[in-house]
Amino acid sequence: MTQSCAEIAGVTVSLDHWIDGRRVSSPERFSNASPIDGSDLGAVSAAGQAEADMAVKAASKAFPAWAALGPQGRLPILRRFAEGILARGKDIAAVESLDNGSLLMGNLHRMVPRAAQNISFFAEWALGLNDHVIDHEEVINNVRYDPSGVAALITPWNAPMMLTTWKVGPALAAGNTIVIKPPEWAPLTCSLLADIAHEAGVPPGVLNVVQGIGEVAGDALVNNPDLARISFTGSTDTAKIIGQAAARSITPMSAELGGKSPFIVCADADLDAAAQTVAGQYINAGQVCLAGTRILVEKSIEAEFLDKVRAAVSHMTVGDPREAATRVGPLIHPEHFARVAGFVERAKAAGGEVLWGGGQADAGGLYFQPTMFAHVSPSDEIAQKEVFGPVLTWQTFASDDEAIAIANGTEYGLAGTLFCGNEARAMRIAERVVAGTLWVNCFFVRDLAAPFGGSRISGIGREGGTHSFDFYCDIKNIAVRKGSFGAAGG
Ligand code: ADP
Repeated sequence: MTQSCAEIAGVTVSLDHWIDGRRVSSPERFSNASPIDGSDLGAVSAAGQAEADMAVKAASKAFPAWAALGPQGRLPILRRFAEGILARGKDIAAVESLDNGSLLMGNLHRMVPRAAQNISFFAEWALGLNDHVIDHEEVINNVRYDPSGVAALITPWNAPMMLTTWKVGPALAAGNTIVIKPPEWAPLTCSLLADIAHEAGVPPGVLNVVQGIGEVAGDALVNNPDLARISFTGSTDTAKIIGQAAARSITPMSAELGGKSPFIVCADADLDAAAQTVAGQYINAGQVCLAGTRILVEKSIEAEFLDKVRAAVSHMTVGDPREAATRVGPLIHPEHFARVAGFVERAKAAGGEVLWGGGQADAGGLYFQPTMFAHVSPSDEIAQKEVFGPVLTWQTFASDDEAIAIANGTEYGLAGTLFCGNEARAMRIAERVVAGTLWVNCFFVRDLAAPFGGSRISGIGREGGTHSFDFYCDIKNIAVRKGSFGAAGG
């Protein structure tokens, strides 16, 4: 008998798909282990073509009725969905932490409220979508945001609940139906999400979850010709493969991909705040696409600032992410650990100086020390490629032009952080850095109304506020000749 549920941190989690309002099991399973200690979290159903097709079919069938509800009709259901996420917050936080090694306290106090907000915010925003009218000479243009159909949502393992709801919120609020393909290295909280949606009254077929391996289940899903949208967050290499599938059926695709973001510190900045924020780049073991991993320091304050960062990092506890004092948890998977360690070994061999860290942490297992490399050239692999681990590089600059040249000197353009004491100078630098988001004297503030996405190989498109609906909707203009219906309106 195949196992269909597991007890994870005292929470019952289904290990099966959620299709058309019911659990569906696959004979094929994939194993899932906790990065905290390698413990077995159960064998999860692995979809193939049949299950992916079944889910898209269910979503297609459910689409007309969900779309017809309109934003007003969907609002109470989505509000209950958001409330359900908050009500199950402790369960979600605990399961996520065991499944992907993320910090329990961060999950409880930031990720869960944000996940709920991702649903309620877009549900409310959708109410005003069709209010846009352009009065132009003889024509009134009524701009309409129509639901587009079935959206495939493919999500990564570093923050599954947060990043999935970031897509689910606008996709459902717009009136689309969805098929989610959760990450195989952290599949469990998406399964809880299906239960919560169901309890909130999201109708069968509107939200489907297909578990499985990316190259199999994900591939089957994105090649389905009945998709209206594909939204992907993950690696640039995978985006190139999914992009080919999207191209075959001209399916619009949004992609939020990797980064190698600069973190620029000017001599007149609040150096204590900047040092704390640099240390914060190690949180969740650096498995954060937005992390500022290239520290660029103005030469005149290098020694002083290095002391401050070293002190801030020395206070960071590496260990079990369920402990409140822990700041750096494990890497997600042995394969990923080997990848991160490979970057570090090659950087050492290339002459990089290890300022601290450089290998497995005392906790053993998948725990890696917060690591800083100095004496790297901007063209070195360690300063060019995304490591996705607790590994930063330390470089200096003598002028703003030099800082900007180094900052912009990779293929990426996801984000950037700048600490600077002079507003005019800060804005001059910020405007010239290529990035979807540039934080000045702050970090990680991601307003749901503001555009978010990556430039260059860091992504396609922007989401947030209206930008999300620009992607998830078919936008139509109903252009009506003024006065053409006579005085009585026809
Ligand atoms: P990472 O390198 O961060 O693990 P990936 O890009 O490999 O990121 O994975 C992100 C998501 O994309 C996961 O849900 C994964 O299962 C899925 N995925 C991987 N390969 C494919 C593919 N060929 N088609 C569709 N989805 C895929």
